[in-house]
Amino acid sequence: MSPKAGRAQNRPPNATPAPPQSDDRIVAAAAAEDDPRFDRLFRPTSLDEYIGQSAHKENLRVFLQAAKKRGEPLDHVLLCGPPGLGKTTLAHILAQEMGVTMYATAGPAIEHKGALAGLLTRVQERDVLFVDEIHRLSAAVEESLYPAIESFQIDVMMGDGPHATTIQLALQPFTLVGATTRTGLLTAPLLTRFGYVMRLDFYPVEDLILIVHRSARLLGVDITDEGALEIAKRSRGTPRVANRLLRRVSDFALVLGDGRVTARGAAEACERLGVDSAGLDEMDRKLMHVIIDTYDGGPVGVETLAAALAEPRDTIEDVYEPYLLQQGFIGRTPRGRVATKRAYEHLGIAMPAKASPPDPQGALF
Ligand code: ADP
Repeated sequence: MSPKAGRAQNRPPNATPAPPQSDDRIVAAAAAEDDPRFDRLFRPTSLDEYIGQSAHKENLRVFLQAAKKRGEPLDHVLLCGPPGLGKTTLAHILAQEMGVTMYATAGPAIEHKGALAGLLTRVQERDVLFVDEIHRLSAAVEESLYPAIESFQIDVMMGDGPHATTIQLALQPFTLVGATTRTGLLTAPLLTRFGYVMRLDFYPVEDLILIVHRSARLLGVDITDEGALEIAKRSRGTPRVANRLLRRVSDFALVLGDGRVTARGAAEACERLGVDSAGLDEMDRKLMHVIIDTYDGGPVGVETLAAALAEPRDTIEDVYEPYLLQQGFIGRTPRGRVATKRAYEHLGIAMPAKASPPDPQGALF
């Protein structure tokens, strides 16, 4: 079959957007609030343009070449990591590099086996099916996905009641690209069916500087190296946050200055947006304050934190915590979350001396 490079990328009718997350935050890493125009503008379209994650990129390059040489679809790939790190972008790139179409959907959007069958029967040879939030597939849909990804066939129920029969439909060989923010929630049978599992980490500042410069170029924004560094440092290791901050900061530069983004302008704009020098915003600070002020530094369970912050537990675990944990502002213990010395220092709160064990002699008097 001839390559289908340049084919329009489709979203099947049953594909619905991901559930809303805390997007009112400037540092929120969820995509829902991003203007699709900018998302398209910023999105790298080839592995060469995709910044950072070099070890994974080199592996993917090899797998892509091997698949093309064999004339087979790319092996199924699972992309894991917090929101905004480039999972969807990579899925698009894999399809583009293979010269095939990508169909995009999300776990909760595939409501029943029939919807999955409808989707899979439309996928052509070597196409990419991207399933975001794959950990949220229902058990029944997940089970009917197994034969589809293992031997490219799916069982379809015909009719209902006593006359119902199951027929087996052959599918075109395709590539499943799954994305998840929570590898821990994936079942072992699904996890083991992926040929390559790629864990995306928060980006180092050097990579984020390159991302900011690239996006500034695409936006036609004049930015100094120091300005890019300032934005990179405040981006929570997340390309989507870097792009979002760049757009807001360039608004300030345009209206309050001469349009050029400098370190000082970027720092001032970020402060006005409530994003501090560590890239934390009001919500991050509030989370640390709850642990420190209300629960004496912890440990405090995630359910309690979620209730105190009036946020769903998933949002705490997917959006806020990963960066705070990675940066060492909070720690995770079997009994819950604790604030670290770094959190106390960052908030300017004196850390109480550790409660010492009772003096066995003193206990006598
Ligand atoms: P995810 O699917 O992990 O939530 P996305 O793929 O939607 O993240 O990426 C968010 C935005 O960040 C995209 O619009 C893309 O432009 C940008 N981006 C992500 N990763 C990179 C990268 N490695 N290089 C350049 N830009 C990136």
